[in-house]
Amino acid sequence: MSSPNASPNAMAVGEDQTRRPRRPRRGVIAAFVVFSVVSTLIARRRGYNMGGNIVVRCRKGHLFTTIWIPLASFKAIRLGWTRFQRCPVGRHWSLVTPVKDSDLTDEERKFAAEHRDVRIP
Ligand SMILES: [Zn+2]
Repeated sequence: MSSPNASPNAMAVGEDQTRRPRRPRRGVIAAFVVFSVVSTLIARRRGYNMGGNIVVRCRKGHLFTTIWIPLASFKAIRLGWTRFQRCPVGRHWSLVTPVKDSDLTDEERKFAAEHRDVRIP
C-alpha cells in the first residue's frame, strides 16, 4: 500500500545478474559507436566538416577553431551536438556548437582561423 512500485522482481533481477556475469555490456558501447559514426556522417552531409578542425561558436557569439573528433574528446564534455569547453576568445567556459563553413563570412572565417584552442581533441 505504501509503495505500489516495489515489485518483488527487483531482488530477482539483481540476483540474476550475479548468476550470469556474461551480460553483454559491449552492446551498449557498440550502439554508442554506431550512433556516433552515423551522426558524424549525417553532419558531413549537412555541410559540417566533422572530425577535424572546425569552426565553432560559443554562447557569447565568439568564433574559434577547434578540433572536433567524434568519440575522442578529452577536454570537453560532449552533449550531443553541442559541447562544453573553454572559449579562447573570451577566456571563459561555454557551450559551443559547430558552425557551417558556408554560413561564415570571409571575415569570420579569418577570425576563427586566428583563434584556435589547444591541439588536444
Ligand atoms: Zn566566447
